[in-house]
Amino acid sequence: MTEQTNHYEIAVIGSGPAGFTAAIYAVRGGASTVLFGGVAPGGQLLQTMEIENYPGFVDPVVGADLMSRMLKQASRLGARVLQESVSEADLSARPFRLKSGGKDYTADAVIVATGAQARWLGTPSEEKFKGKGVSGCATCDGFFFRGKEVCVVGGGDSAAEDALFLTKFAAKVYLVHRRDKLRASFRLQEKLKANPKIEIIYDHVPEEFTGDAKLTAVNLKNVKTGAPRRLEVPGAFIAIGHTPATELVKGKLALDEAGYIVTDERTATSVPGVFAAGDVMDTHYKQAVVAAGAGCKAAMEALLFIESGGK
Ligand SMILES: Cc1cc2nc3c(=O)[nH]c(=O)nc-3n(C[C@H](O)[C@H](O)[C@H](O)COP(=O)(O)OP(=O)(O)OC[C@H]3O[C@@H](n4cnc5c(N)ncnc54)[C@H](O)[C@@H]3O)c2cc1C
Repeated sequence: MTEQTNHYEIAVIGSGPAGFTAAIYAVRGGASTVLFGGVAPGGQLLQTMEIENYPGFVDPVVGADLMSRMLKQASRLGARVLQESVSEADLSARPFRLKSGGKDYTADAVIVATGAQARWLGTPSEEKFKGKGVSGCATCDGFFFRGKEVCVVGGGDSAAEDALFLTKFAAKVYLVHRRDKLRASFRLQEKLKANPKIEIIYDHVPEEFTGDAKLTAVNLKNVKTGAPRRLEVPGAFIAIGHTPATELVKGKLALDEAGYIVTDERTATSVPGVFAAGDVMDTHYKQAVVAAGAGCKAAMEALLFIESGGK
């Protein structure tokens, strides 16, 4: 890296609810703060039209609107928000060094809030009906399918948990899995089998999501026989996992086997002075309000770290 040009007490990488909340708390705590937001700041919530479970909004809030409010709040309070991605991070010595937009930055503490991406099947019909019946988040959208039949695609713990969660609202839940056995834990499999609202469809994959303006059915194919099957469902939940955005810190911070940043309960990573918040370290909840809460914790811990002289 070239010579240092910009120093901040706290650098936040990522612009979802975790990153913006961290920046808000960092500046409110009196630290000079920069937030690297990537080329399109806002994170995963930019992909959704209606958020009904973020506290403080009586009516549904559009994802882009919520994120633009967070950006404006962080900027108004004095955080420098850059629409750039961090391309390199040297976390081996303090001050930490980051490269972004061809410039070098240094920071006394770094908060990694780079988020995660829900994995999708990647078919054109899935893309067409995303947000119109096809969802990546049962906790977020299950409520909209009260009394209806829905399907969940996947066979791991998240798919099993989503299927069980959806039985609170849906009349029936089909769990579609491409293999003849689920990967979900034994305990979850027992729960699935004991739930009369759940039908597990083994050896099938979705071929096509169909409908007009909204999803009305999913065409499946039996992977062993090739036989078709059609599920008349207005809701399909894709639960085949998430990919945490940890490329930048691979080999620099301890990651778990799925690639998530390992933190303690106070958001500290394996490197003193580097904290992580949000979906990048959250293997379980993956909700905006949880990410925001972790961002708050990370900023408070980063402030303490700086005040204690990095000890
Ligand atoms: C379709 C959909 C609907 C959802 N609906 C809801 C809902 O209704 N309610 C709810 O609570 N949750 C919902 N969620 C989940 C919620 O969006 C996430 O839990 C939350 O956004 C996680 O926030 P985060 O700050 O950890 O990361 P993210 O939102 O993933 O944001 C991380 C940001 O960091 C950026 N970034 C990554 N690497 C770099 C880098 N090197 N430099 C700079 N920037 C970088 C990314 O581009 C991204 O913009 C939904 C998710 C999806 C996909």
